[in-house]
Amino acid sequence: MEVRSCRGCGKLYNYLGPSTPACPACMAAMEEKFQTCKEYIRDNPGANIQKVSEETDTPVKMIKQWVREERLTFAEGSVVGIECEGCGASILTGRYCPACKFKMQQTFANASRRPAAPEPANNSNRGDSNKMRFLDNR
Ligand SMILES: [Zn+2]
Ligand SMILES: [Zn+2]
Repeated sequence: MEVRSCRGCGKLYNYLGPSTPACPACMAAMEEKFQTCKEYIRDNPGANIQKVSEETDTPVKMIKQWVREERLTFAEGSVVGIECEGCGASILTGRYCPACKFKMQQTFANASRRPAAPEPANNSNRGDSNKMRFLDNR
């Protein structure tokens, strides 16, 4: 077991892994804030992040973190002040806009496919593929 000082209140607590970033008291307080924000957003779908922060007495930074973690989602059309980390477009939740997410998924899929699967193009033209295969098999 590991003892850490809480980044919320500075008290020592038993650190049990990434799910316990703060002491139990601060975790509970944070969770309470989270629920308050969530309810506020649900009841006030047009509210922006500044408004939620003021009304729920929660730091904007904290709200943004929840949004980035996709725990909080703002209603379509509200000004959240969260930008896509890829292209800077205004988004409602997470870290990337749908377009960038899609692009990244494509890139990721291509990148992870490449080393495993053999090139199908080489099989179709067998004439001079022996040399190619030799290179591929290294
Ligand atoms: Zn604490
Ligand atoms: Zn984007």
